[in-house]
Order: sequence, then C-alpha cells, then structure tokens
Amino acid sequence: MALSTYLAGRSRDELTLTDPDFLNDRRVELRLASPVVSADRTAHTVVTADDDRIRYDALVLATGSRPFVPPVPGRDLTHCFVYRTFEDLDAILRTVRPGSQGVVVGGGLLGLEAAHALSRLGVRPHVVETAPHLMPAQLDAGAAEVLHRHAAGLGLRLHCGTAVAEVHARSDGTVRAVTLGDGATLDADLVVFAAGIRPRDELAGPLDLARGERGGFLVDAYCRTADRHIWAVGECAAVQGRCHGLVAPGYAMAESVAAQLTGRDVEPFNRTDGSTTLKLLGVHVATFGTTVHPGDPRPVEVAFADGIARYAKVFLRPDTGSLLGGILAGDTGSRSPLGSFVGRRPPADLEQLLLP
Ligand SMILES: Cc1cc2nc3c(=O)[nH]c(=O)nc-3n(C[C@H](O)[C@H](O)[C@H](O)COP(=O)(O)OP(=O)(O)OC[C@H]3O[C@@H](n4cnc5c(N)ncnc54)[C@H](O)[C@@H]3O)c2cc1C
Repeated sequence: MALSTYLAGRSRDELTLTDPDFLNDRRVELRLASPVVSADRTAHTVVTADDDRIRYDALVLATGSRPFVPPVPGRDLTHCFVYRTFEDLDAILRTVRPGSQGVVVGGGLLGLEAAHALSRLGVRPHVVETAPHLMPAQLDAGAAEVLHRHAAGLGLRLHCGTAVAEVHARSDGTVRAVTLGDGATLDADLVVFAAGIRPRDELAGPLDLARGERGGFLVDAYCRTADRHIWAVGECAAVQGRCHGLVAPGYAMAESVAAQLTGRDVEPFNRTDGSTTLKLLGVHVATFGTTVHPGDPRPVEVAFADGIARYAKVFLRPDTGSLLGGILAGDTGSRSPLGSFVGRRPPADLEQLLLP
C-alpha cells in the first residue's frame, strides 16, 4: 500500500512486506512466477502453472484482486494504465513527462493517490468520479467537501457526478483525449484507471466453491469456505458476502485463520466495523464503528462542521442515544477515543472530542 513511494525513489526491496528471516525460514517454501492454476478438493492438491502438484492439509486462498477497468471504448489504447503493481508504475514512469496531460478515472482512495503521484511527476491531473462526491465508499458529502477543497487547492482538476465515456486515439494509437458523460472533452496523454477492484476468485471454479454476489470466495465470519480445509482472506474473500478492499480487515482475517490453524481462540470477523484512518493528499479522513445504515430504525445523525477545514458526523441510536459510528475529515480529533464509545452513550462534550 506504500506503492506510491516507489515513484519517489523507494526501491522494491524497501517496499517488500516480508523480512529476510521469514523467507529463510525452512518451514516456508516460496514459489515465485508459478501461479496456482488449478486445484483438486478431493485429492487436496493445488496445481501450479509449471504443473507441480502441491498437497495441502489446509488451503488459505489470498489471491487479492485485480483492477476493474470500465468497458469504455478506447480503454486498451497505448498509455492507458492501471495502478497496482511495480510494473504498472514503471510503465507510467516511462510515459509521463512534466507538463503531460493526465486523466485519472476514479475519485476513491486509489484514484486520489494516483492523481497525487502524477502531480508530483509534473502532471496536473483531472480526476473523474461517477459518484456526486469523492471517496463515496468511505465518506459522506460533508467530509468529501473538505477533501475536495483541499485536493482542488493542490491543483487536481476534479469532475464528480460524471463518467468517462470514451478514450480517443492519436494516429499512432496512443491516447489523445477523453470524453465524459457530460459532454466535456479533456486532452490527455495518459489515462490511469483506478475505478475499483474485482476479487481474483478464478480458483472457485476448479475448487467448486461458492462466490459472493459480487464475486470473491464466499466465507463465513471465520473466513471458512464450505470446505472445512479451505479458507480465504484479504481482498479475494467475500466475508458473509462482502469483500473488503483495505489492509486492516485483511490482516484481521489473516490473524483469525492463523489462530484457527494453530488452535487458538478466535473472535468472528466483525464485518460491520469498517473503521479506517487514511491520510490522503495531506488530509486526515477516518471512519469508525458503523457508518452505513440500511433499513430501520434510521440513526440520528449529528454533524459538526467548522468552516470547510474540518467536519465530523456521528450516528446515534434513536432509542438509546448510544454511538453507532462516525466520519471525520480534516483536522479533527483522533478516532481512537471515539471508537471506545461505540455501543455506549457518548460523553456530553462530544463536540470537544470531535473538533478539539
Ligand atoms: C497503490 C495502492 C495504495 C493502497 N493504499 C492503501 C491504504 O492506504 N490503506 C489501505 O488500507 N489499503 C490500501 N491499499 C489496498 C491494499 O494494498 C490491499 O487491500 C491489500 O494489499 C490486499 O492484500 P491481499 O493480500 O488481499 O491482496 P494482494 O496484495 O493483491 O496479494 C495477492 C497476491 O496473490 C497473487 N496471486 C493471485 N492469484 C494467484 C494464483 N492463482 N497463484 C499464486 N498467486 C496468486 C497476486 O499476484 C498477489 O501478489 C492500496 C492499494 C494500492 C494498489
């Protein structure tokens, strides 16, 4: 997740998540560049692209996801990119020049990060977001406004509530321009798609495992598939039907499965708590507890705004007044003391806690 620092000069080695001790552990056998292409549940084996068969007692699927590229004409042109791997960033680096025109498709966490990275490379990028405001998956309109003003102040050109309709080519097959659903045309030398992810769940077929409604290996709150020898963790797991695209839930799932495999006590994965703390473009945004409330009873929402620099909203149970969750943006209080009030009545000086 620190991939963008690669553009600032950090090396692949510095960004690896494992330390050498782990890879030298004789109990670990690392096989690179030979993905698992098939599997046999009855024989308890997985088959690699090199046709190696590996037996398992426990199989933990952690195949992550792949970028989703919306099916717009021109999306395969030269200089259309995604933003997930070192190779993607190398390709962007080879293309981009100071003063290049860049369009980022997607105004979520990843799109804003890609736009920020491009602006550091001398590009003044456009960001196109289908939803009415930035980061629709995490923020409400008020919190997104704080982020929007800050991002615009940094020079990002933001287009919310519209989508990319087509990417146009020059005669040499490279990107020339992008048209939007609202009819606008943006000059572009490159396009970076950061419009969401799709779980890599191809192995569900050979393993005959169920998928969630939106893809991903369907698992219960303990990350177990219907086969008691197979688990799924991270972005490829649809925990009780829902996939999670951030590291914290992935780590919680991995901890849970590790505990199960080593005979320790485990708590079920709490899918309603989507707490996140992110620092985007220098702006602090956070959510804690439950911030999405479909159905009844609808929570009481209390918003505190301080001009456009900071914003906080909390959700309270209408009957007991206990705290359900909240959204913070800008220079607000830390979410950690608030998290501990979830499920209880918040203190009377809530505003002081939110906007100290
Ligand atoms: C640029 C960027 C910035 C991000 N920033 C943040 C952030 O600030 N905060 C945050 O919480 N999250 C962030 N994320 C998201 C976070 O990185 C992901 O949620 C997390 O890495 C997912 O981990 P994972 O192990 O599930 O999947 P991955 O990290 O995608 O790992 C899955 C691995 O499995 C391999 N694989 C797939 N199929 C097979 C197969 N059949 N056989 C063998 N290997 C296979 C893949 O090659 C891949 O290496 C960011 C992501 C990106 C791209």
